[in-house]
Amino acid sequence: MDLVEYQGKQYFARYGIPVSPGEVANTVAEAEAAAERLGYPVVVKAQVQTGGRGKAGGVKLANSKAEVTEHAGNILGLDIKGHIVRRLWIEKATDIAKEYYASFTLDRSAKLHLAMVSAKGGVEIEQVAEEDPEAVARLHVNPLAGLSREEARDLVARAGLDDEAREGAAEILLQLYECYIEGDADLVEINPLVLTTDGEVRALDAKVTLDDDAAFRHPEWAEIDNLGQSTERELLAKSKGLSYIALDGSVGIIANGAGLAMSTVDVVSQVGGSAANFLDVGGGADEEVMANALEVINLDPSVRSILVNIFGGIVRCDDVARGIVSALGRVDIGAQIVLRLDGTNAAEAHKIISDATSDKIVGEATMLSAARRAVELAAASQAPGSQGGSTL
Ligand code: GDP
Ligand code: MN
Repeated sequence: MDLVEYQGKQYFARYGIPVSPGEVANTVAEAEAAAERLGYPVVVKAQVQTGGRGKAGGVKLANSKAEVTEHAGNILGLDIKGHIVRRLWIEKATDIAKEYYASFTLDRSAKLHLAMVSAKGGVEIEQVAEEDPEAVARLHVNPLAGLSREEARDLVARAGLDDEAREGAAEILLQLYECYIEGDADLVEINPLVLTTDGEVRALDAKVTLDDDAAFRHPEWAEIDNLGQSTERELLAKSKGLSYIALDGSVGIIANGAGLAMSTVDVVSQVGGSAANFLDVGGGADEEVMANALEVINLDPSVRSILVNIFGGIVRCDDVARGIVSALGRVDIGAQIVLRLDGTNAAEAHKIISDATSDKIVGEATMLSAARRAVELAAASQAPGSQGGSTL
């Protein structure tokens, strides 16, 4: 789960990381009232789950109520990389002397945490890393050993932070590491981490990604407002215990097992199509589960065909086939379904499907041929004047 900036700053504050005072606003009037309380100048900031808001016009300095009115009005409703701004964060403006960068993330290949610090903050770190790799100081942190104050100090020194910022930045690094570990985050990033003209070091932006797999030990995460990011189908999938991730293609995918689901997504793109989602039904692909999966995918208006790829191991293909046939009776599916069933009881399964004589289902013997067929069907139903496709 990605937090928006103000939620990330609230998370930071729990670990003692200095942030500026601010207030949430959902309307222009709320923005004006917040600014009056905070005192000018303030910064009006779009709260969306993407970086680069500044460049997109989503971060503006306001010196008066009239400017808050103008900027809040312009930013609310703004489309930033596909995210529509519905909420603002009004923050007391900071006088910036220097902008730095600091983050912790997991380096999977090294099996260690990775700290990155740079004196070139404010801009996108990927760009800095590309143009001037020396400007990003790195430190791998062994989770068993943790991060020591000496290491934090050494890292900010290697990154070339100004002398007066070093002690404050090292302290923040220690707090940020605790936030990352104790807070069960996959990523914590401060860009910019600033040195103020008063000589203080403070987090002026916050990017926090929480590790969804740790949600079981954080009941409080359920309270985090996800600002309407989850779609109806994501919520439905979650409530039905399905692993569903929306993608932006047109072929709906249902498979059993995360590996097979990922391979199915790959094969669809290999044959020139694009997956509308990743959906892993897990171990039990019975009627109930198949009906739930089809129901979730059916809610996606961009789905033009559905590829069901099930490998029968413990789950028997004939059960899956019966599940799909009976699911078709329960859910009015818009798109054509291409079915590839292999493994335990595959022959019985094919018989059930052909006996069902549904014009909605097409059987294919291999994953590759099934993917080709699904991509063709998706393309045909998208062609102008075509009769097929989703009826949604
Ligand atoms: P991002 O573009 O989405 O990463 O949004 P940021 O929160 O990082 O803001 C972008 C830029 O706006 C920062 O790099 C700063 O240069 C500037 N900015 C943000 N807050 C303040 C502030 O309080 N005072 C000043 N002077 N500039 C700010
Ligand atoms: Mn930023």
